[in-house]
Amino acid sequence: MVKSPAIDKLKALVIKEVDSHHDQLRELSLKIHSTPELGFHETKAAGWLTQYLKKNGFSIERGISGLATAFKGSYGKGKPAIALLAEYDALPKLGHACGHNLIAGSAVGAAVASEAAIDQLGGTVLIIGTPAEELYGGKAIMVERGAFNNIDIAMMVHPGVHDAATTQALACISLDVEFFGKAAHASARPEAGINALEAMLQSFAAINSLRQHIKDKARIHGIITDGGEAANIVPAHSAGTFIVRAEEDAYLDELKEKVLNCFVGAATATGARLEYRWAEVSYAPLRNNMALARLFQQNMQSLGRKVLLAKPTKAFGSTDMGNVSQIVPAIHPDFAIAPKEVAIHSPEFAQAAASEAGIKGMLDSAKALAMTIVDLVANPETIARVKQEFKSK
Ligand SMILES: [Zn+2]
Ligand SMILES: [Zn+2]
Repeated sequence: MVKSPAIDKLKALVIKEVDSHHDQLRELSLKIHSTPELGFHETKAAGWLTQYLKKNGFSIERGISGLATAFKGSYGKGKPAIALLAEYDALPKLGHACGHNLIAGSAVGAAVASEAAIDQLGGTVLIIGTPAEELYGGKAIMVERGAFNNIDIAMMVHPGVHDAATTQALACISLDVEFFGKAAHASARPEAGINALEAMLQSFAAINSLRQHIKDKARIHGIITDGGEAANIVPAHSAGTFIVRAEEDAYLDELKEKVLNCFVGAATATGARLEYRWAEVSYAPLRNNMALARLFQQNMQSLGRKVLLAKPTKAFGSTDMGNVSQIVPAIHPDFAIAPKEVAIHSPEFAQAAASEAGIKGMLDSAKALAMTIVDLVANPETIARVKQEFKSK
């Protein structure tokens, strides 16, 4: 990190800016929290966020990449173009149990605060609203449709149970499966039926056997979404959704084939017909830009938080930020909002996402992101270093 009185002054200014927006950012994130919207239906959240950005000097494009609830805001002009990413989708039944309301608040907070740096030093700060992170890989679609072209750097933060400048995220794809059998009276004419539920249960058994022999960190998990109509009818139809994850894309491809064979085998064993559909987009593994992560770490630490470079855990999920990080230098740090016993995607984490610790983490993250933008626009060499690292891998 380059130090100079001018940079320090600018950082103090962006911190003051976030503080002056404290009440509005808090209100915005709590409003999103209390109005959970599922992926691609985040109409209210996208509306509130773009309204706030517009009121604060950003020019706004709504519905980018052909996605109604995606948006782009920009302030300033020319290079470098630094993007902050906002997520705002919730989970079925659990609401904001992944704390995306805090991601949205930190991104818009950082965007508005960094106007001071852009005014003095030039460049562009972009804020990209990315819908449907949880289930549909909104960013993966937006990457394919060019939303991140002409961007130099992309940054976002995610709430969690650690303060850490990097995280690991697995490559991931989902699979929908259906079995078609034949209905019959389960007691009077069982021999006339073909049991689609048994095919699904056989598939789970086969996957459980496979799991013993897969690589460390790979994951296979699923649910049954249709298991029949009544106990006295041989189930003519069953359905399920599965997710397959691996540390690398190449192993994910290998694993996909093995998982699919579990269903094919079950279809053969039971006589049920298999139909399956892999999701159109897969989540790529996350590439952490270490030069960028260290800048964020130092800025977040200057606010009095102890920030690790890597999370002290082997438990990882997936994120569509992985896809962005494959084409643009990127970071996806975690900020702690709950004790480490609390599991993300739980009711307790949803509570934490509306707590004082949640709001504090969101505001600190907004400050650290804005301070990192100061570091970047103030020093072309810093951006060159970030890009060099990205190219060298
Ligand atoms: Zn999340
Ligand atoms: Zn999540």
